[in-house]
Amino acid sequence: MSIVSKPEESGIQNSQRLDLRAASGGGIFDYAPAPESVRPEIADQYGLFIDGDFVEPEGGTRFATINPANEDTLSMIGETSTSDVDRAVRAAREALPKWAGLSGKDRGKYLFRIARRMQERARELAVLETLDGGKPIKESRDVDVPLAAAHFFYHAGWADKLRYALPGRNPQPVGVCGQIIPWNFPLMMLAWKIAPALACGNTVVLKPAETTSLTALRFAHICQEIGLPKGVVNIVTGAGDTGKAIVEHTDIDKIAFTGSTAVGKAIARAAAPTDKRLTLELGGKSANIIFEDASLDQAIEGIVEGIYFNQGHVCCAGSRLFVQESIMDRVIDKLTDRLATIRVGDPMDKNTDIGAINSKEQLATINRYLDAGEDEGAVRHDVCPSTLPEKGYWCKPCFYTGVQPSHTLSREEIFGPVLAMLSFRTPDEAISRANNSPYGLAAGVWTDKGSKIFDVAKKLDAGIVWLNAYNKFDPTSPFGGYKESGFGREGGRHGLMAYCK
Ligand code: NDP
Repeated sequence: MSIVSKPEESGIQNSQRLDLRAASGGGIFDYAPAPESVRPEIADQYGLFIDGDFVEPEGGTRFATINPANEDTLSMIGETSTSDVDRAVRAAREALPKWAGLSGKDRGKYLFRIARRMQERARELAVLETLDGGKPIKESRDVDVPLAAAHFFYHAGWADKLRYALPGRNPQPVGVCGQIIPWNFPLMMLAWKIAPALACGNTVVLKPAETTSLTALRFAHICQEIGLPKGVVNIVTGAGDTGKAIVEHTDIDKIAFTGSTAVGKAIARAAAPTDKRLTLELGGKSANIIFEDASLDQAIEGIVEGIYFNQGHVCCAGSRLFVQESIMDRVIDKLTDRLATIRVGDPMDKNTDIGAINSKEQLATINRYLDAGEDEGAVRHDVCPSTLPEKGYWCKPCFYTGVQPSHTLSREEIFGPVLAMLSFRTPDEAISRANNSPYGLAAGVWTDKGSKIFDVAKKLDAGIVWLNAYNKFDPTSPFGGYKESGFGREGGRHGLMAYCK
């Protein structure tokens, strides 16, 4: 069911609202197309990156990686077998003594070179990320790639200063690290994992997600171009079984995993009887709390940034919105108007706000949640006017009102552009409702009262709390969760600890 808010309450007339919608839906104010023109070279097929070279997967099998915006096959990716994983681990083990034995200053130089090369190839990396993953080019260009490079710059700076990062200790590398990452921020997650590991003198075997291998493989080229010693970084492509083979390999010293809570729990079980170190960055159902004294227009942008960024494929997405009861109607009206200007469509168009859903499977998952929301009695506000392309996987941004804390929509991670809106009356009620979740990754608080903002922030069970902001990332700031959102931190000084003994 779709509803439109009452015009007299929002202060905006229906005719004006229709104009706003025309602005993005194909009316007189429509945008001209602004396609990204760069088309990077994509090989017909890729091998695995082991010991500094691209090698054939042992079984010779490959799987297709497709563009989710048009379902075209982009390339065929090598399927890594258990014995390929073993090859990669052996290469990482052999490379370890020399890499760990380099001075921090020399290791730092390699990291600086990687960062510089990523900047030089930024446009190509951004286009690859968008083609393979479906995210809008303006996000991969302005967020993913710059942040990935920033992580290498930041950790290059730490490489010769580890004694100061961990004062009173003599930090040593952990050893060979198995790293498994998801599809929502492929290059950025790679940087979060590889940069601190290398800075601290470890070697790595990294598996990208099955649907988004292309930027990791292009990163392998960068490792070759900058002359990174062979075996320090190994990239093995494949599906869940490849990840499992990494987790179960007996010569890996540490597992760093980012992904779903279900798989994270399976990895924790597998690692428990071993002496492997483990860090888990898992799912979330983060609360974005808007108090009645907040600057509302700013908060609306924070809501949009919180849940619709990257199609909602964000572990820390502000997917539960808590609005103080007195301003609920105004927030609904303003959000309705804002969604009327959001453009969903071709991710390669520079004006696109929301691109394609990463895969057919993820779209089916989101659709199941949309149905569950209505079955449980919540009201869906489907107010984005964009016309969706015929091919590809698409989901318009929407929000639900009438959501109860017991509803599936407010308990489970959807990983799509779907917002559950709930209300509260007092700060204590906001805190207890926000903390009523098995997850504890992130939160946002919007108010113009300084004392309230700090008081609420410190009572929230969340690894990251943004104050009058949302989804702001920086390599200097540690990121990680509580409860079923995992343990361990990535970024900042804290992130180094996971890669040092
Ligand atoms: P999955 O857990 O399904 O997959 C994550 C990675 O693990 C992929 O590379 C996947 O391979 C691999 N994998 C799958 N099964 C296994 C297994 N049994 N053993 C080892 N590795 C395995 O998550 P998604 O890819 O669906 O990613 C979305 C999830 O990631 C969300 O829950 C999200 O919240 C979370 N996430 C958390 C972040 C954080 O920092 N806390 C950041 C980003 C995402 P393949 O894809 O090839 O199947």
